[in-house]
This record gives sequence, C-alpha cells and structure tokens, in this order.
Amino acid sequence: MHGAADPWNDPKYADVKWTVYRDRAYDLQPFYDKHPGGSWLLNLAIGRDCTALIESYHLRPEVSDARFRGLPKLDGFPVDSVPKSPRPNDSPLYNAIRDRVRTELFGDDHKYSGGRFAHRTGGDAAAATIVGTAAVAWTLYAKCGAVAGVLPAIATGAFLGLAGAWIGLTIQHCGNHGAMSPKVWVNNALGMTDDLIGGSSLMWRYHHQVSHHIHCNDNALDQDVHTAMPLLRFDARQPKKWFHKYQHLYLFLAFPLMQLAFQVGDIQGLLTRDCEGAKLHGATNLELATVVLGKIAHFSLLLAPAFMGASAAAVAAGVAAFTAVQGMVLACTFAVSHNVAEAKIPEDTGGEAWERDWGVQQVVTSADWGDKIGNFFTGGLNLQVEHHLFPAVCFVHYPAIRKIVREEAAKAGVPYSEYRTLPGVFAEFMKFVKDMGTAEQIGDIAEPASPNRTMCPLGFVSKEPAPAAA
Ligand SMILES: [Zn+2]
Repeated sequence: MHGAADPWNDPKYADVKWTVYRDRAYDLQPFYDKHPGGSWLLNLAIGRDCTALIESYHLRPEVSDARFRGLPKLDGFPVDSVPKSPRPNDSPLYNAIRDRVRTELFGDDHKYSGGRFAHRTGGDAAAATIVGTAAVAWTLYAKCGAVAGVLPAIATGAFLGLAGAWIGLTIQHCGNHGAMSPKVWVNNALGMTDDLIGGSSLMWRYHHQVSHHIHCNDNALDQDVHTAMPLLRFDARQPKKWFHKYQHLYLFLAFPLMQLAFQVGDIQGLLTRDCEGAKLHGATNLELATVVLGKIAHFSLLLAPAFMGASAAAVAAGVAAFTAVQGMVLACTFAVSHNVAEAKIPEDTGGEAWERDWGVQQVVTSADWGDKIGNFFTGGLNLQVEHHLFPAVCFVHYPAIRKIVREEAAKAGVPYSEYRTLPGVFAEFMKFVKDMGTAEQIGDIAEPASPNRTMCPLGFVSKEPAPAAA
C-alpha cells in the first residue's frame, strides 16, 4: 500500500525534479543538462521510482550509481507514497547476461570502436536506408500516385504504409530508446519520425518505456496488454465479450482501426497529461507541443496530394491504403512478440510485481523469431527478448547478444522461446488469439507440449536488502 502523502501535489515538490531510486528520493536538477543520453530521456524518470529505467538502460551500474551518489538527497520525502519499481540489478540472470555483454561485445576497456558508447553505434546505414525509402515512397505517393487516379493512389498509399511501418518498427523505436546513436539530437530526430507516421513520440516514450518495458505482459501494469481492448482480448483476465470468440476472424479488420484509436488516444493523453499506464510527470512544454505539431506534420504529408490536384476519391483511397497497411504491419509485428501462450504470466505469481526477478520476467514474456534478416527489417523487434533486456543497445547488436542470452538462460533453467521464422511465430499467435477468445483463465491457453511452450513461473529475487546508491 502506498502512503497517504502526495508528493505530486505537494507544493514543496512542485518545482523539484524528484525521482526515487532504490527507496531514496533524489533531485535530478544538478544532472539535468549533463545526462549523456539527454534530458528528454531523463524526463521519464521524474515523478516516479526510476530504478528499472535506470538499471535497464545503463550497461555499467557503477557509473549510474556514482551519478546518484553525487545528487542531492531529498530527506523527509514520502518515498512510501511512490509505487515501487522492479530492480533489474537484483536479478542474477540479468547481471550474468549484462556482465558478459559488456565485456565480450563492447569491451570494458572502452578500446572498441565507439568507445563507451559502442552499444549505441552501428545503425547509421540502416537509418539512412529506411529514411531514404520513406522519402521515395512519399514522393511517389504525393507526386505520382494520387494525382493519377484511385488505383495508383491505393498502390502508392500501400507502399507508403510499408515505409511508415518500417520507420515505426525501427528508427523511431530505437531512436526513442536513445539507442540509434551516441548523439542525443540524432536519437531525438529519429524518434520524432514516429510523429510523421501518425503516432506521438512523446506518448510512445512514456507508454512503451515506462509501462510496457518495465512490466512486460503484466496484466495490470503493462498497458500493451490493454491497448487492443475491447476489440481484441489478449489476456484471459480481461472481461470476455460474446464477440471475442470471433476475434481471430476479425483481427485483420481491427488492426487498422487501432491505428485510428491511437490518434484519439494521443490527444486524450495530451489533455489529461496521462498516456495510458504512465503519467507524463516529466514532460516539458516543448515535448507536449510536439504532440500537436506532429499531428499537423503527419496530416500535411498524408493530405498533400489534395493540394497537388488529386481528386477527393483518390486522396481518400490513398489515405485508407496507407492506414490499413501501416496499421496491419505494425500491429502484427508488435503483437506476435508477447502474445503466444508461453509468454503470458501465470495467474498467481505469488508476490508484488516489483519483487519479481526482472531479468527472468523479460526473458519469459517475449518470443524471438528469425535472425539477422528479420532484425534488419524489424529493427530488432524479432529478437524481442534481447530488446527487452537491452533497450538502450542499438538493434544491430541483438544477434550477437542472443547467443549470450540463450546460454545464460539455459544455465539458469529459464525457458527461452524462439521460432525460426515469422510465419512460425505467427501461426502460434493466431492460435493464441483464437484460444484467448474463449479462455476462462490464463492457464487454459498454456501448451505444455515442449519446454519452450510452458508458461514459466516468474522468479523472485532475494528478499535481502539491496545496497542503496549512497
Ligand atoms: Zn522497445
């Protein structure tokens, strides 16, 4: 239970950039302009327990610990009123994997190319290819397709939808995680491509990083579990409607509708300062303005043919094709990674969410598929386990990290789910969607047929008090 004090509405803390790290409250202000990843990512930590954010984003715990030791502590702060975060560095599995990743892949002596930021390098060529493809797709759509008639508008709108989905899966995702480049402005700019394709980079950072990444597949705390409701039911603990038994049939109609629902959700989030699952405590006015400016930019790009002589029917057809294709590709690719039977958290894990072994949770709630080709086209979303363990590492490194994760998971006896191909995992996903339409409880959809297909009880870390940063 949280304490009665309310630090979010206490005038004493109104102008303080407070955060809680391992049961201690700190003022981030002195470090605000010095964070190597940029203040825009530090903002995510303001007004909440940032322990999982800090520990999952920094390969070198001793460096982030030292930063906290140098920050002013807020004595008397009502720490008990702040919901507790999981603690990745208390996970023996995560520590074992991370220690090998930092020494075997990135070199603790910092002599590897890229130095101490090597884990954020390597994505430049992919970024240039993706941005270039999107520019070509938009030019074809705006200048050739829609002005030539309805059918060319559909064809070029669909191509633009593919290019938009490629952006959504890759450079916006990795950029918003701060992982595409050692340069803050590059990550920020690539992150804002999410606004161009119709999302909101600001809302995405909070929803995806604060809610989804920290609490992957937790029925109560990961908003991605709820995003599709009531249209689609991805967890048996959600209310079951009569139409869910048909959800595997209407799934492909529902996905493009979800794209439209996100537009409404972004504006609602702006008005309430609350994107689903994560209040926007740290968002600056400039960041809030990007939500509106981004929508203006997106619809200007999408409706541009109307100002170049295209008919209303051709523009409508092009917009519909773009929306359907982009929505379908994004939704299918995001959904398969966490919505197969073995990735669901069992009914009762026997403790509070923050007490779980965060490393085990990340491994067992995701499923990998494919390898390097899938990695290039999905920005590493195919290697979802590795992405969840290392969201601040550029996706090009995930195939190498995967070998370490596989070995350490095997040593620890933790199930590690992987499929050889996208059709392989997609078939399991479709079966899951069908089963979830009628399941009474989460256990109904488990398939204990192979070690990879068994829902794993989440581990809990030692109850021994962890060392505080100070
Ligand atoms: Zn992510």
